[in-house]
Amino acid sequence: MFLRCTVCGASNELPASTLGAPLRCSRCRQPVPAPAHALVVAATDAKEIVRDAPWSVVVDFWSPASEPSRQAAPEVERLARRHQGHLIVLKVNADIAAEWGRSLGVRSLPTYVLFRQGAEVRRISGPLTAEQLESALIPAG
Ligand SMILES: [Zn+2]
Repeated sequence: MFLRCTVCGASNELPASTLGAPLRCSRCRQPVPAPAHALVVAATDAKEIVRDAPWSVVVDFWSPASEPSRQAAPEVERLARRHQGHLIVLKVNADIAAEWGRSLGVRSLPTYVLFRQGAEVRRISGPLTAEQLESALIPAG
C-alpha cells in the first residue's frame, strides 16, 4: 500500500498489516497520516490489503465507463475522509479486475463490498451518497 508523506512528499510503501500502528515516513521520519481518500489499486494489491489490514476495508468496484460509478466518486471520497483512521476505501477498476469481480458475483457498478479480516461482511450497489454507504455498510458504533 502506498501512502504519500504530507511533509516531504515521499511515497511510502507500507504493508497493510501496519495500519493502526503509528506510520512514519521512510525518508523524513515524520508521522504519515492514515489515508483520508479512496486509494486506487490493482486487484492484487486490493486482495492483499483486504487480507492483511486490521481495519475494515470497503472495495468500490467501479469503471470509468460507468456513469453511476463516476457520479458516486465524490461520495466515495467523502466516505473515506469521514472514516479516516479506521476504514480503508479502495477503488478497483472492475473492467481490469474482471476476474475478481466475477468471483465475488459483482453484477452492477458501482458495487461496494465491505470486508473485515478478509471476509465479506456486507455489500450494496448503486450510486449512493456517503451517508447511504455508511448506513448500509458501517455498523453502528
Ligand atoms: Zn516524509
